[in-house]
Amino acid sequence: MRYLSTRATDSTQRKRFCEILLEGLAPDGGLYLPESYPQIDGATLNRWRGLPYADLAFEILSLFVDDIPADDLRALCRKTYTPEVFGTAAIVPLTRLEDGLYLQALSNGPTLAFKDMAMQLLGNLFEYELARRGEELNIFGATSGDTGSAAEYAMRGKKGVRVFMTSPDGRMSPFQQAQMFSLLDDNIHNIAIQGVFDDCQDLVKAVSADLEFKRKYKIGTVNSINWARLMAQVVYYFAGYLQATTRNDQQVSFTVPSGNFGNVCAGHVARMMGLPIAQLVIATNENDVLDEFFRTGVYRVRGTADTHETSSPSMDISKASNFERFVFDLLGRDAARTADLFGVQVQRQGRFDLGADPAFALAASRYGFASGKSTHQDRLNTIRATWNKYGVVVDTHTADGLKVAQEHRQPGVPMLVLETALPIKFASTIVEALGREPERPAKFAGIEALPKKVHVMAPDVQAIKSLIALACDGAASA
Ligand SMILES: *Cc1c(COP(=O)(O)O)cnc(C)c1O
Repeated sequence: MRYLSTRATDSTQRKRFCEILLEGLAPDGGLYLPESYPQIDGATLNRWRGLPYADLAFEILSLFVDDIPADDLRALCRKTYTPEVFGTAAIVPLTRLEDGLYLQALSNGPTLAFKDMAMQLLGNLFEYELARRGEELNIFGATSGDTGSAAEYAMRGKKGVRVFMTSPDGRMSPFQQAQMFSLLDDNIHNIAIQGVFDDCQDLVKAVSADLEFKRKYKIGTVNSINWARLMAQVVYYFAGYLQATTRNDQQVSFTVPSGNFGNVCAGHVARMMGLPIAQLVIATNENDVLDEFFRTGVYRVRGTADTHETSSPSMDISKASNFERFVFDLLGRDAARTADLFGVQVQRQGRFDLGADPAFALAASRYGFASGKSTHQDRLNTIRATWNKYGVVVDTHTADGLKVAQEHRQPGVPMLVLETALPIKFASTIVEALGREPERPAKFAGIEALPKKVHVMAPDVQAIKSLIALACDGAASA
């Protein structure tokens, strides 16, 4: 298996899995995709029924990874997907709400959000590959919540990796702050920046723009465009399908609470591999970049003033960073056109319009996409209705999914709504909807009172660089 960039017009540039594992964007600004999607036949799907999640992950990953020995890859999967880390033997269990409507739990990992599903694997893959190369990596990022904590919980204690994670001082929920700042591992560095999230992102950009510093201190990222993260997410679409069906002539649909298009893009890959998925339904919140595209063909990046702070904050995006992958497929893998749309039109005008292009109709008819949006009031109504009708409390992102799923159900096709976080992470909206606090998993009892490790700093590029240099050089001389 080789990987190409969505903007590569030159076929000599193809790379193997471990070459792109530690990378983000391709050098030409595109995103990596496999040069073709492996095809799954009915006999294979039958063989996979009943496999434990870790072994299913191994089978699927093997189709995309040919430069890690099979025994090592299997061991990495078994080390990652354990009931101890993910709470149940099924790892991603289904809950039946009523006939034909299910929740698929992706949020029982260490940070109670679906990003653990991929990030936990990434932690083990990074440690393995860095040891093999005799290299180190310093992950430097900005977070307003879910991504940063998932990265820290995945990388804590891992050899060869340090994490420097900036977050806006005092702006995360007390629960999120406690989750991150209570990590006392030597390789985890929490940096609370006196400013807003954009200040944190600007710092990351400024440090990364210093190529000399970046090279010397081996600075990298773990953002959602990383191919290995997307690949790990393909597995739970298969696991959901296999739980909801008994025979391969049955189809299911998925509804996916979406922001950067990472989660649902994995669903697209699963469908391209031949998994019998009828529809992939995208649910957005008030930040409806994706819903607008799937309704009209217009992809329009939002400015800061046009990006809303909502009660499903992990979907508050101004552009959908993985979307280019799907558009590349939609346009018949035309790299020159993809480069023009994302590298020229989006850069210059902040938008493009495929509404009049014959390819646009294929998004629904050939690729199974549908979409909808949900607002704060919808979220409150859905959280209440789900509690009243089924006795289940859902988080705000999952509520967006359930609301939109109801608009797209088809007779005879089970609808699986991906549960992307647990309610405790977004407690204030649950209180607003239900008048009481959500349940807290036992392992998080009293975390707000644990000792915390965090540097509070002004948004000062030089000071951040000194902190990183000191942590790295100090470790080297110790
Ligand atoms: C990140 C996140 C999302 C959005 O996922 P994308 O891959 O960015 O589309 C939805 N819900 C929760 C809870 C998240 O953390």
